[in-house]
Amino acid sequence: MSQSNPTSGQEHAHKSGFETRAIHAGYEPDPTTGAVIPPIYATSTYKQDGVGGMRGGYEYSRSANPTRTALEGALAAVEEGERGFAFASGLAAEDTLVRALCRPGDHVVLPDDAYGGTFRLFDKVERAWGLEHSSAPVSDVDAVRAAIEPGRTKLVWVETPTNPLLNIGDIEALASVAHDAGALLVVDNTFASPYLQQPLVLGADVVVHSTTKYVGGHSDVVGGALVVRDLEVADAVAFHQNSIGAVPGPFDSFLTHRGLKTLAVRMDRHCDNAERVVEFLTGHPAVAEVIYPGLPEHPGHAVAAKQMRRFGGMVSFRVAAGEQAALDVCARAEVFTLGESLGGVESLIEHPGRMTHASVAGTDLEVPADLVRLSVGIETVDDLLADLDRALG
Ligand SMILES: *Cc1c(COP(=O)(O)O)cnc(C)c1O
Repeated sequence: MSQSNPTSGQEHAHKSGFETRAIHAGYEPDPTTGAVIPPIYATSTYKQDGVGGMRGGYEYSRSANPTRTALEGALAAVEEGERGFAFASGLAAEDTLVRALCRPGDHVVLPDDAYGGTFRLFDKVERAWGLEHSSAPVSDVDAVRAAIEPGRTKLVWVETPTNPLLNIGDIEALASVAHDAGALLVVDNTFASPYLQQPLVLGADVVVHSTTKYVGGHSDVVGGALVVRDLEVADAVAFHQNSIGAVPGPFDSFLTHRGLKTLAVRMDRHCDNAERVVEFLTGHPAVAEVIYPGLPEHPGHAVAAKQMRRFGGMVSFRVAAGEQAALDVCARAEVFTLGESLGGVESLIEHPGRMTHASVAGTDLEVPADLVRLSVGIETVDDLLADLDRALG
């Protein structure tokens, strides 16, 4: 049984700029047809030239499929990692990573405001398997250090910016805290995307993505990714990716890869529009507080400015008149579609307390009831501002 996973084009692509890597890494035009885009290889198995005579290492599509291989090469290149791995969802990527690097009895440190699905995975699934966890705010390096149990803690897990309060963790500082304790730093880079932030370059060991969000970017496919910088970690992840089998099919891989190619131009417009939305909300009488790492008064602004290219497309704000008014804003918005998820070309609005974060009500993770979260899309910005103005009444 082979673990092979061809990664053509990964090494030399590292020398190119971000956009060039996003567009070209991972794939050379097909030698037989010249196809510029990786074909959707809708095949589960591959003809062998004699027993064991595999062409390019392809044997069975759980182990490797050329459409997925192309995506994985591109993911590694944009994160400047050694190797990329694609999964059926962000949570599938996370579960595979945990099984690859942890054993029952080990311990992990999580953000105290982790993505709800990540917290549920650790609290309800991995804990039953014998993996303990504790939480600390990612913005407080000393608190993260204190939460580590030396010898037992295998992973320090960080999201930055976090959801929905957009707290910022200092990746460089957290990497040295983790490494001092013999643990690895895992960064969920979903909110920033590899265009705005490259955790591996800052010292992290593993990057996690829900490619469902900005990487895919069009709200048409669910997927996940891991990118690692160490070959030993890569081997463990490759073994578990194949052994567990939570892989994306070729159609999903194609869509995700297509999205990745335009990540840079989309992110720049997400950021442009978010900055205009922040400016508009900041002066609005119905808004009590705007939360955006690009604002100088945001407590994580200096760290965000150090480690991010720009500040992203996610904006949260508190409605002055309270919870019902916040719900009314969500209901009145029209260009901003009321819905969960984020990172697509279309703008979304949601009420975290009743929607994405309803399951953490009454816990430490509870979010303010007057909070509204925006995933600012790439529509005409004046239409977005007019919509918010109308929704805010
Ligand atoms: C959506 C999301 C996930 C989970 O990814 P799925 O693709 O939904 O499984 C993990 N982390 C963050 C920050 C997310 O936004």
